[in-house]
Amino acid sequence: MPSAYKMRIGDEWEEADEFFDDINPATEQVIARFPKGTGEDVNAAVDAALDSFDGWSETPPPVRGRILRDVAVLLAKDKERFGRLVATEMGKVLPEALGDVQEAIDTFEYFAGEGRRLFGNTTTSELRRKFSMTVRKPIGVMGLISPWNFPFAIPAWKLAPALVCGNTVVFKPSSDTPLCAWELVNLLVKAGVPPGVVNMVTGPASTVGEAVVKHKDIEGISFTGSRETGRWITANAGLKKVSLELGGKNPIIVMDDADLGLAVDGIIWGAFGTTGQRCTAASRVIAHKSIKKKLVDELVNRAKKLRLGSGLVKTTDVGPLVNKAAVEKTQRYVEIGQKEGAKMLCGGRRPSGKGYFYQPTIFDNVAKHMRIAREEIFGPVLSVLECGSLDEAIDIANSVDYGLSSAIYTRDVNKAFRMIEKIDAGLTYVNSSTIGSEVHLPFGGEKRSGNTREAGILGIDEFSHVKTVYVDYSGKLQRAQIDLEK
Ligand code: NAD
Repeated sequence: MPSAYKMRIGDEWEEADEFFDDINPATEQVIARFPKGTGEDVNAAVDAALDSFDGWSETPPPVRGRILRDVAVLLAKDKERFGRLVATEMGKVLPEALGDVQEAIDTFEYFAGEGRRLFGNTTTSELRRKFSMTVRKPIGVMGLISPWNFPFAIPAWKLAPALVCGNTVVFKPSSDTPLCAWELVNLLVKAGVPPGVVNMVTGPASTVGEAVVKHKDIEGISFTGSRETGRWITANAGLKKVSLELGGKNPIIVMDDADLGLAVDGIIWGAFGTTGQRCTAASRVIAHKSIKKKLVDELVNRAKKLRLGSGLVKTTDVGPLVNKAAVEKTQRYVEIGQKEGAKMLCGGRRPSGKGYFYQPTIFDNVAKHMRIAREEIFGPVLSVLECGSLDEAIDIANSVDYGLSSAIYTRDVNKAFRMIEKIDAGLTYVNSSTIGSEVHLPFGGEKRSGNTREAGILGIDEFSHVKTVYVDYSGKLQRAQIDLEK
């Protein structure tokens, strides 16, 4: 019988009455069992977070930062084990899984340093003997809700800045990767985060997730996941501060002057890395008509050679999808693409046997109105569209609701800068794929891809309020806007 784990509430690891299975997507075997938390558990977690708030928010930020640094050290010590866990629980191939853990290490290191900055501004005043500045304050108890596709990195993107800013948190991880979340919370406890500061409630979205979103004492929600869930949260969170990192339909534009070999490498990596399950995955290629055939032939040639298998096996290029529902969704979109009249050049099938695998799939002759060109599939499916000019390519790229990542392959600096200027996307890569952000730079989307920036210095804004402070040391009533000097 696989081990049964507990939730973290206050100073305790909490038992539960009911459990759900945590499944290895490559073998379909149960690897652990996790508590099906309830609304009551969320209430208890919020109470614990409220109780610990004064103590934590009054702890000097450099001291909070030191604990984050220790988390980074502990993560690094056990990186190989955690990487293998990511590959087992979520399915991505081991080099990518180790990268996921490394991103968490980098994030804790980065925000540890923020404990000695958390800068505000000082500025001038329009009146004499008056001092003006801004300082940062924690938001309060925050609800952190994460997906499964970066089971160490995304929780780290939320936990590290939330904690350095002085918030206490209720963390609801995805039910596809609760064990990675448990390991991370366990490390936070080991590193010395005081009781009640980090609480973790596992369980269904419909009970735990919704209770977090609606709880009256939670002041802020930091959510990463699908657009549909983001929309629900916006409608149900009341007046909480809500930060959303949502999906994408990320284009790679390939111009007629591009280095085609480089473009093929970038497209294969962007479309089929992590089995297409990155919010920044390249799901559309918009190719200039003069090079499209050559490009597509080479893409198909390369995609057919990709080896499916467990992420733990060295020779595997593409791991499984995360669960059965993801396979069914991918299959559904493949059928939609065929019905819409796109031409499937490879893939389009789930191989027989155990595991949630799906063959890398490429569609040619895709038109911009087709659903496979507009909707996020979150699987190994690439749509190729044709353009006759850069302006047309940008037009096609911008014709969807999403605006997360984007890329262009060109040797023409004018085209590259025109793309940077005109493309609707929070991230633009030149001569590189749509994936691979670095933790010290801001990350986030435009349009329906979200409303925030995480990571980098802007990541602090999601987890803090800015207070404006005026100190009048004139000893008399001075009226702004009225007592102006000529
Ligand atoms: P999801 O929206 O189904 O679930 C995300 C989390 O929200 C899970 O923990 C889930 O249990 C919880 N949840 C679901 N419904 C909820 C509700 N009504 N109230 C509260 N919580 C609820 O997304 P997913 O399948 O886990 O992740 C894939 C999606 O995440 C894709 O759309 C992908 O593009 C997106 N994503 C975005 C980013 C980004 O930074 N922009 C990064 C990774 C993934």
